[in-house]
Amino acid sequence: MSSGGPAVVVGVDIGGTKVLAGVVDNAGSVTSTALRITPGRRVVTSQVEDALVEAILECAGGRPLAGVGVAAAGFVDSRGERVMFAPHLPWQGEPLRQLLEDRLGSHVMLDNDANCAARAEAHHGAARGASSALMVTMGTGIGGALLLDGRVLRGANGMAGEFGHMQVVPDGRPCECGRNGCWEQYSSGKALVRNARALMADRVSMLHDMCDGSTARVTGPMVTAAAEEGDPVACAAFAPVGDWLGVGVASLVAALDPELVVIGGGVSAAGDLLLEPARAALRRTLVGAAHRVVPELVAAELGPQAGMIGAALLLRHRAS
Ligand SMILES: [Zn+2]
Repeated sequence: MSSGGPAVVVGVDIGGTKVLAGVVDNAGSVTSTALRITPGRRVVTSQVEDALVEAILECAGGRPLAGVGVAAAGFVDSRGERVMFAPHLPWQGEPLRQLLEDRLGSHVMLDNDANCAARAEAHHGAARGASSALMVTMGTGIGGALLLDGRVLRGANGMAGEFGHMQVVPDGRPCECGRNGCWEQYSSGKALVRNARALMADRVSMLHDMCDGSTARVTGPMVTAAAEEGDPVACAAFAPVGDWLGVGVASLVAALDPELVVIGGGVSAAGDLLLEPARAALRRTLVGAAHRVVPELVAAELGPQAGMIGAALLLRHRAS
């Protein structure tokens, strides 16, 4: 490992399963990356911070740090100081920004991961040039952000954009948040897998082979792969997920009237399998659809690096 050289800006994205760090240049390009497994939620918090510091230093490769941006999968306070709560991490009110600054001796900034992904798409991805855009990230659940003139709308407490927990079905399916009928129970990676497992009970599908006969082993990427091969069960599992996506987006569009809707997150890798039924449902359910411009609904462009790139952008666009 060499030392010295020009100072670098590092973005790091910590989710429930992995820590991805990268050196991000002025153009938003990632020049080197480092990966760690997230230690989990039942560990002491310093172990999670160890993983972050290791990944940051590895990708920097001995070069001095000009600054570090952190995208965290959790609720970050409006000042960007603390992770208040994270479903898959042990942090509760953790003063992460200051802790990392002390350990790294470099300026550190912190934001929610969906906000970071949206910021990256606004500057370097699918929402480039849009005056307003709604970002919906579909992973295990649903997250998101609203962009106005390239800036993320944070809300009074920094918690805007938790679209996945809008109630869409009164007394509907129970949600991990403790309530019922949340949108992400009908449109998310988890909903996709649940649909596939239910359909597999009495229908022939290539998924039976893919999961070695155990439906508990079915994953979202498996369902996507099978649907891309035209498997009828996998395609049938996608249809309601896409439909519910469009129904929820229609409510958000009714409230916010964005120029563009960008769908990101792991499930968006399915492309038109997801987006076509969503577009149809958006046109069908948006209030006044025949008399207004229905916003375009497009896939995100930056993939799994969006959070990391958007975290680095915190340093370059400190006010956004
Ligand atoms: Zn919920």
